Amino acid sequence: MSELIQKQWSTHSVYAAIVNKEMEIVTIGQTTIHENNDPTAHAEVNAIRAACKFLKTDILPTAYWLYSTFEPCPLCSSAIIWSGLDGVVYANDPRFRRTLPNWSFIKCKDVLKQGTDIHQVNLIKNFMLDDIKRYFIRHQK
Ligand SMILES: [Zn+2]
Repeated sequence: MSELIQKQWSTHSVYAAIVNKEMEIVTIGQTTIHENNDPTAHAEVNAIRAACKFLKTDILPTAYWLYSTFEPCPLCSSAIIWSGLDGVVYANDPRFRRTLPNWSFIKCKDVLKQGTDIHQVNLIKNFMLDDIKRYFIRHQK
């Protein structure tokens, strides 16, 4: 997570990574909405797409987790369910975004809870929150 947060500080983009059961980073995704003219190219979705392509699968293996510098939005939370990830760890709490748009207009935990019939996903929120919240305080307009 430290590596992802450092990347966000330097490039001002949300970052996410897929981590395997050995805690090795399999892929890193960055938000590329503008570069790709793709409104679904969120960091989490990009990391999931890259991991599935790399592993040549549409369901990620057991014990793969996603780490994100942001709380995954409803789109990404749904993609997390469909990809078979066992868990999510995210750093940011939306209350530190202040006037920035709240992309998590449906909480990640609520989407994951609604999707338990499809796939059960563990959630660790506000991980390394002190490191990421300073980013939003510093970049507040
Ligand atoms: Zn998203």
